[in-house]
Amino acid sequence: MLADSHCHLNYKGLVEHQDAVLSRARERGVVAMLNIATRESEWDDVLATAEREPDVWATVGIHPHEADKHPDVDTAKLVARAAHRRVVGIGESGLDYYYDHSDRDRQRASFRAHLAACRETQLPIVVHTRDAEDDTAEILREEMGKGGFPGVIHCFTASGAFADIALDLGFYISISGIVTFRNAKDLQETAARLPRERLLIETDAPFLAPVPHRGKTGEPAFVADTCRFLAELRGEDPGELAQATRENFHTLFARTRT
Ligand SMILES: [Zn+2]
Ligand SMILES: [Zn+2]
Repeated sequence: MLADSHCHLNYKGLVEHQDAVLSRARERGVVAMLNIATRESEWDDVLATAEREPDVWATVGIHPHEADKHPDVDTAKLVARAAHRRVVGIGESGLDYYYDHSDRDRQRASFRAHLAACRETQLPIVVHTRDAEDDTAEILREEMGKGGFPGVIHCFTASGAFADIALDLGFYISISGIVTFRNAKDLQETAARLPRERLLIETDAPFLAPVPHRGKTGEPAFVADTCRFLAELRGEDPGELAQATRENFHTLFARTRT
């Protein structure tokens, strides 16, 4: 039994046949999926899916790519929407200096607004970070200094040093299908040594389909392939790793248990 800690069931490629996507996931033992919001216009749809499907939960948040387009999404707005009983986390938010689709100052301001919402609600933050390790670490440290909150670094591709910083802050680390890619040697090295009690697995579907599905539209069913690969990498039993990461999912996203 597996949890997919990060997917986008309302994105093009999945939303058109969401029922089939969900049944393929369930057939492969996926019992929990977190449907992640990236823009305000999606929030209603993401919540509707979570209301309809008992094994799907939701987040509310603004992706760093979209920060420029949402100057009005502040902490109060996030906190208000996070009161919905199927919202179990806030995000995805963070910093993406690889694509720089939004102004960096706006990305940082939006990230801080999300973190303040986590401090207020005690819901976990789902962090997206790419080519922005130093600023991500600095902002997390500063904001957590004002009062702590739980969180996860999603689709982890950063350095081993950044993994250690995240672990020190009490964060979980979520490994995506990228770990199965042949050229992902550094990530594989880090993923092999992460403490199991802080590990999550995700698809980030419809993106990043793992081996042996590369080139296809990603979907939550494929979390089983990433779990198997990761277990082999770590010298662990796939069933045990699946169970451990699923339990971690319910520990971090504690509202999934109520
Ligand atoms: Zn992301
Ligand atoms: Zn995502």
